[in-house]
Amino acid sequence: MSNSNVRYPFLDLRKADAHLHGRLAEAAARVISSGRYIGGKEVERLEERMCVLTGAASAAGTGNGLDALRLALRACVIEGLLKEGDEVVVPANTYIASVLAVTDAGLVPKLVDPDESTMCLSGEGVRKALSPKVKAIMPVHLYGRVAWDATMADLAREHDLLVIEDAAQSIGAATPLGGMFHSGTAGAIGHIGAISFYPTKNVGAIGDAGMILTNIPQVAVTARALANYGSDRRYHNIYRGFNSRLDPIQAAIIGVRLEELEEICREREAIARIYSRSISNPHVKLPALTTSPRESVWHQYVIRTPHRDALREYLIGRGVQTDIHYAVPPHLQPCYIGIRHTPLPVTERLASEVLSLPVTPGSTSRDDARQISEIINEFNPKDE
Ligand SMILES: *Cc1c(COP(=O)(O)O)cnc(C)c1O
Repeated sequence: MSNSNVRYPFLDLRKADAHLHGRLAEAAARVISSGRYIGGKEVERLEERMCVLTGAASAAGTGNGLDALRLALRACVIEGLLKEGDEVVVPANTYIASVLAVTDAGLVPKLVDPDESTMCLSGEGVRKALSPKVKAIMPVHLYGRVAWDATMADLAREHDLLVIEDAAQSIGAATPLGGMFHSGTAGAIGHIGAISFYPTKNVGAIGDAGMILTNIPQVAVTARALANYGSDRRYHNIYRGFNSRLDPIQAAIIGVRLEELEEICREREAIARIYSRSISNPHVKLPALTTSPRESVWHQYVIRTPHRDALREYLIGRGVQTDIHYAVPPHLQPCYIGIRHTPLPVTERLASEVLSLPVTPGSTSRDDARQISEIINEFNPKDE
């Protein structure tokens, strides 16, 4: 099917960002005329701003979201907060980056099924996975929904678990319960959080960028050194490090986009509400309702149906592009053949049933969401 038949693209960044082109170009031009192309004020300013936004004590920019996770975990090992071979509870239905970061640091992912209704890690899931080897948990705020509950908080405290949030999809999300420290905002709920500014995320760069947030300032110091060839000062390398820094042009671009964060969250919420109110097809299951305003920032609006592939085909025939997050879970990827895990029936079923609808403001309008809902309501698997 040619692109011209797509009436409702899944995500058209060109269109979504058209109103920002002038301001984004100005931000990039500011860095070009500064002559400071690595680090500097733009990056520092963004790190400070992210601390204010989330309530984290410290922040360190990285080259991307995966590196934010892996450098943070490696810093935990260096600092003695974790040691090689320790187990980290990770929801099995995540993007592979969450698991890659764990294995990269010499840690062992303990994959668990998510809660069926929220599709996120739950306190009950953590409870079932606990063992003396489990030293950390990685709540992934999947699809923008905060994966945090009172049980998880209690278990983390009781068992002295390190809480590392994969907040790649959830900038601006918050739990009304509060976190381990003073903030309930995604990325600062636990000890460490990783943000991704990948272009399709709710706040995106025009390339790769990421950030570590932490309530343990020493983790930020160590991760920052790791990201800079392992050096604590010039030509003095205390670790065998990497090069993974947040580019100042990207920092300036992200700064522009952050000004819109409230609007982005509000509009995503509005589109999600339209879907939730308007879709009423007995074959389709909607995402769990949220009970507090920023419990989800709706990075994805994910419906479920056992007729997923038929629905997807039907929708493309009606001009609606969709996506699948994610069709193959990490434990079934070739790179993790042989990885140890308990049966993961919920994860595997979700992988065959989930379908993401267009939800990005500026690319998808409220009216589009109403029309897409009607098209979904006319779907009958028996006709396909
Ligand atoms: C995008 C994403 C990452 C990785 O971020 P990058 O910036 O693409 O490296 C990690 N975890 C999750 C859940 C993500 O969605």
